[in-house]
Amino acid sequence: MPSSPNSVRSTHPRRLLLLCVAWLLAGSALAEDEKPEAPVILSTGTASLMVEGRQAANVAYSITPGGPRFALWPIAAVLGVEVRIGPLGDSHTLVFEDRHIIVGPAQASMVTVAPDGRGERKITPLDGAPIRVAGGLMVTLELLERALSDALNYQFAWNPDQQALTVARPELRRLRGSVSLVHQYQVSLVEIRFSEEPRYRVEQSPGALDIRLIGDRLELPIQIPRAGDPLVENIIVAPEGLRLELADNAVAEKPRLLTGPVTRMVIEVFEGRASSEAPGPSPRRVQERAPGIRTIALDPGHGGAETGAIGPAGSAEASLTLLVARALKLQLERRLPVKVVMTRTENVEVTHETRSAISNQNRADLFISLHFNSSFGPQAHGAETYFLSREASDQRAAEVAATENRAAGGETNPEQDLQMILWDLAQSYHLAESQRFANLVQEELNLALGLRDRGVKQAPFRVLMGAKMPAVLVELGFLSNPAEETKLQTPAYRAELVDALVRAVSRFKTQVEARDVVPSDADADSVGTGAAEDPS
Ligand SMILES: [Zn+2]
Repeated sequence: MPSSPNSVRSTHPRRLLLLCVAWLLAGSALAEDEKPEAPVILSTGTASLMVEGRQAANVAYSITPGGPRFALWPIAAVLGVEVRIGPLGDSHTLVFEDRHIIVGPAQASMVTVAPDGRGERKITPLDGAPIRVAGGLMVTLELLERALSDALNYQFAWNPDQQALTVARPELRRLRGSVSLVHQYQVSLVEIRFSEEPRYRVEQSPGALDIRLIGDRLELPIQIPRAGDPLVENIIVAPEGLRLELADNAVAEKPRLLTGPVTRMVIEVFEGRASSEAPGPSPRRVQERAPGIRTIALDPGHGGAETGAIGPAGSAEASLTLLVARALKLQLERRLPVKVVMTRTENVEVTHETRSAISNQNRADLFISLHFNSSFGPQAHGAETYFLSREASDQRAAEVAATENRAAGGETNPEQDLQMILWDLAQSYHLAESQRFANLVQEELNLALGLRDRGVKQAPFRVLMGAKMPAVLVELGFLSNPAEETKLQTPAYRAELVDALVRAVSRFKTQVEARDVVPSDADADSVGTGAAEDPS
């Protein structure tokens, strides 16, 4: 039976409860209009499941007055969709990375919930209810279409003459990819780049992590990083997905998919106890520190002989950034329960490496680099907020990064380029958070100053690369614009900038800390149970 004791135990109890609750709620919501359909079965048989023109499996079917119904489990298995079966053997949950779809016998509806069981429940009415037969759930073509077409772009058709259920993908995507691996600070980071956003699911087991593409295929060959990583022993690539083989003492976090100019998946592997228990956050992670925004690193750009931009009236970027940083430190510590560390407090030259080292050693939770822009055109004005990316979001962003990178870092050379890639990989773990904070900063600056929205941009800033925390670089205005330079010389205008930055930090702190109150038990469930036996 699918609902063997094993399958019950291996599903996370809290998740199971949430799913059951969602299922019961859905059932009661529909109870009044939906009469359980009488399971009148006119005939039964075995059909060929044809996927992309080839026979992939046999699948049991039942002919009922409401049309044919097909055994759900073998179809899901062939298409790479995990099915979890509830403790009573009734609720069947189709597991996708971004959603769970719950169906059950005699319920002419399907319920879509978030993977953690929280958030909105979407109930989709169906023409016919699934029927429970010995050993499995028989579902309609409509249910297959609705549950699987949207996510996977499959089209189903029943050919009664040939006893064939055909599954076609109008366009089967072939994804190109690349893999890189770097180890630092006792953490191994695996980065997988994809040519398009992949549809996938994750299976974690002791000693391995599998990323299985749903529907899509990887184009081979893909170059694999050389062996020798202390935590990731091997990376195996197949058209269907990737497998990380981990060392005995390694624990992998759930992969994060980052979209932007480049789609990439980042997987962090820690030292930790290899365990047969459901993997949660690794012990190392937990004891490290509770999440939150408590320490903020402020980085006044440039310094000393390295003045940065100079305005037409003679203001030096290095002096202005220090003025703003000092005022910002004062206001942040006055108005929020945070500690602020500065990467420089005097007008002296500091390298990019020292700036990130100061932030990392002080275990800052947020890094803000302050700058002022310059442009060949005197008209350019307004603030720009940047977060890190290996590629610039546009030509102008590339130029800004090139200008800022020339400072205190020397000329680029191939060795530094490699270093840049490694750092970028370290920072990429925080990209989503950095982007979120950058949006808040830009929003607050535009609101406060009525500045033209120059938007949030991405570019490869050296000073952001070494930061082991969410990090942004803010260009607070154009020194090259005479009017803007005049304003920036007044303390009142700078106070407005500072105010906007404090509000952005405050909102970000609230968001991060509100999010972290909720225990993230959801991740534990990405363990594939594979519990069901083939009921056909
Ligand atoms: Zn600058």
